Amino acid sequence: MAFATVDPTTGKTLRTFSPHSPEEVEARLKLAQETFHTYRHTPLAERAGWMRRAGELLEGEADRYGRMMTEEMGKPLEAARAEARKCASACHYYAEHAERFLADEPVATPPDTSFVRYQPLGPVLAIMPWNFPFWQVVRFAAPALMAGNVGLLKHAHNVPQCALALEELFLRAGFPKGAFQTLLVDSKAVRGLIEDPRIRAVTLTGSEGAGRDVGQHSGRQLKKVVLELGGSDPFIVLPSADLEQSVETAVKARLINNGQSCIAAKRFIATEPIYAEFERRFVERMRRAVVGDPLEPLTEVGPLATEGIRDGLHEQVERSVAAGAKLLLGGLKPSGPGFWYPPTVLAQPPPGTPAYTEEMFGPVAVLFRAKDAQDALRIANDSPFGLGSSVWTRDEAEQRLFIDGLEAGSVFVNGMVASDPRLPFGGVKASGHGRELARHGILEFLNIKTVRLV
Ligand code: NDP
Repeated sequence: MAFATVDPTTGKTLRTFSPHSPEEVEARLKLAQETFHTYRHTPLAERAGWMRRAGELLEGEADRYGRMMTEEMGKPLEAARAEARKCASACHYYAEHAERFLADEPVATPPDTSFVRYQPLGPVLAIMPWNFPFWQVVRFAAPALMAGNVGLLKHAHNVPQCALALEELFLRAGFPKGAFQTLLVDSKAVRGLIEDPRIRAVTLTGSEGAGRDVGQHSGRQLKKVVLELGGSDPFIVLPSADLEQSVETAVKARLINNGQSCIAAKRFIATEPIYAEFERRFVERMRRAVVGDPLEPLTEVGPLATEGIRDGLHEQVERSVAAGAKLLLGGLKPSGPGFWYPPTVLAQPPPGTPAYTEEMFGPVAVLFRAKDAQDALRIANDSPFGLGSSVWTRDEAEQRLFIDGLEAGSVFVNGMVASDPRLPFGGVKASGHGRELARHGILEFLNIKTVRLV
């Protein structure tokens, strides 16, 4: 099957790419392993120089890379340029801090001398999604390469240009050939790659289903795996919150990346005294969201990435409404070319319906009315997922309740969930396990070696 760049605004195929043959894949695996043996001994200062250069290229060519992302998956161009710049910040962050993160760690065990040494594992297979086609990859690659691992990227089938550009980026930055390579293969090839002894660890960002498969295959091979899966993040608004600011942020958090972000807020929970006003303002702001050409600067919402994603989302909306969720806005699939879907608001879905239980990967918000803070916490946690969460309250006791009680990888108080190279990122429950970013991210693919001199 050829890989294709399909413009989501029109549905037209712009370019096709031949998949890598089994011989090409074999050559790349061999090169990865050979490169690892020399690359792991390169001085950290040299790796840091290459990583800084990668950051400079991302900054300097943010427009070119941004257009590539928009063309392949439809996000607004300014957001795509910002994504390239955010990748640059992660490169600079790890270039600056890796030496400290990887330094030997003394441990007091008198009379003996003990320390912990961090060593790379080898070639790491990264299976990545299309939604942040640069960021998802760079937040794996920057720490992994700084740690002395080498990377093999199996990117999503709909972003082949981005996949090839990322390989080229690290080469141009000065990393040795073989330190970071792209494999143009489809997801059926992943199992064989995981089984290959040269692959030493695996990371996946993507859906729960892909996570279960990759987790299972990696488990059978006893290989370390990091899983960054979907989310259905709660956004909880309590009476002491600034309602205007919380509504503005709620809509932004739902529509970011055309609604296709794992950490987008997806379930909006307001308590009784403010629910009606929150609903009114939220629906009104969603109605005013500018949908259109992602190349236009004022566009807030572009098309969805693929026809399959759009149709799957519409089906979730229809099943939820049929089962009793109230439709407050949108919900109609446009006819015509391109993979468009209107901003949509559902309310009070019965438990068990898609809007209650599943991740909605597009501009569809689900509203919940809670009796009080405890009830809001109960609803927030009544989800298979546990990625991010956002709670809006000025009451310190309520803040403590949610910081302690939310079953999620992160809690943002009076703010929107966003990843940041300085903070660990990841989830619990069906949102996966392991962490990316910060020091925690670089430690995932290391042999934590205990040394004791007796
Ligand atoms: P997928 O999980 O299907 O794709 C992500 C990556 O995994 C792609 O490279 C894909 O390859 C690969 N993949 C898919 N299935 C398997 C498998 N069984 N074994 C090994 N690799 C696999 O996500 P989609 O792009 O289809 O999006 C669907 C849903 O995934 C969304 O509705 C959303 O819930 C979730 N998602 C979550 C993301 C997040 O950031 N947490 C990001 C993207 C999606 P290929 O493209 O070749 O199929």
